Amino acid sequence: MIAAVIKESFPGEKRVALIPRNVTALSQAGLDVMVESGAGEASLHADSEYEKAGARVETDRGALLSETDLLLTVRGPGAFADFPSEELDRLKKGAILIGFLEPLAEPETMQALASRGVTAFAMELVPRITRAQSMDALSSMASIAGYEAVLLGAEHSPKMFPMQITAAGTITPAKVFVLGAGVAGLQAIATARRLGALVEAYDIRPVVKEEVESLGARFVELEIEAEAEGQGGYAAAQSEEFQRRQRRLLAERLASADVVITTAAVPGKRAPILISADMTEHLRPGAVVIDLAAEKGGNCELTRTGETMRYQGVTIVGPVNLPSRAAYHASQMYSKNIATFVDLLVKGGDLTLDLEDEIIKGTLVTHQGRVVHSAVLKASGQGD
Ligand code: NAD
Repeated sequence: MIAAVIKESFPGEKRVALIPRNVTALSQAGLDVMVESGAGEASLHADSEYEKAGARVETDRGALLSETDLLLTVRGPGAFADFPSEELDRLKKGAILIGFLEPLAEPETMQALASRGVTAFAMELVPRITRAQSMDALSSMASIAGYEAVLLGAEHSPKMFPMQITAAGTITPAKVFVLGAGVAGLQAIATARRLGALVEAYDIRPVVKEEVESLGARFVELEIEAEAEGQGGYAAAQSEEFQRRQRRLLAERLASADVVITTAAVPGKRAPILISADMTEHLRPGAVVIDLAAEKGGNCELTRTGETMRYQGVTIVGPVNLPSRAAYHASQMYSKNIATFVDLLVKGGDLTLDLEDEIIKGTLVTHQGRVVHSAVLKASGQGD
């Protein structure tokens, strides 16, 4: 079987699905590895390194697509509406596709993959179970995004983060408020602490209090309890009324923050609005909001995805694809996640699809001409 690594075509995407270091792992699983020329360039992995690791470098993308049995991507077709359908048509019949496919947001694209006979696995659906930790690409990328969000916040803030006692006076530490203490939020807290900021954090799930405190931040409790509980460590969507009360209670807590990093998300849903336009008016002049949920609709009502805007002295940043800012390490982590995942699928050079395996079942979106994932079927109005 041939596994191929494509040069990503999504605008601004610098990551690569497999780095040279992990080529050997695939070879050991019995796969021949092919890499599109220049695939690793933006993440500092030259064609020659792939060749040294035993991969074949291919300059003709069409040939690569038609020869490959297992296509490894960062952004699969679901990630961008204008993914050329002729590229899908070029894919070898029965090919396997692995990547971030955005299956819940793009169920129609999943249907298109199914009708072309593609067996597709979505990396964002890797279940959060212990055995799958080394394949959990969502956590790898969220952690990088949390780190990068703090750097962005520091860059846009007119204040320095650490306390300093100097001959020219004392500099007080910056105050950072992190909303949502999941994977990205916890990494943001840790990074802001390392830079010397005073950090406060809030999450709808009180169970994260201990983790927040262990990182040296203060956990802010609001007099409001979640109406519904999520599953698998995730939060559940709350009613409009809950969100209104939550915003009212948060408003005064945010008033003294220099940098607010918002990371709140609910899987498969629009991100909750935690900072309304009114609340922005009550932030400090010079305050910065880094809205990590920008790609999911934003936690701040005024966020414009992919843009930085100023509103009444407050800077609101709606970053997209933060992991790409650290393309080298993001690729390293994603590549390891992918290599471990492939190891689960391929034995002795053959695909071994154990449909009872929780990880395979959880990530398999299309197979044998059909969309087979229940959540994706539900998102497209089929299934229950
Ligand atoms: P996520 O990106 O879905 O959400 C980020 C955070 O936003 C979550 O902590 C969530 O509680 C919070 N949030 C949602 N709505 C909110 C609201 N209205 N107000 C405030 N906060 C709100 O979550 P994630 O970072 O991908 O992961 C969430 C949790 O999953 C982790 O904290 C962890 O417990 C668990 N997890 C487990 C594993 C594993 O077991 N292998 C791996 C990764 C994560």
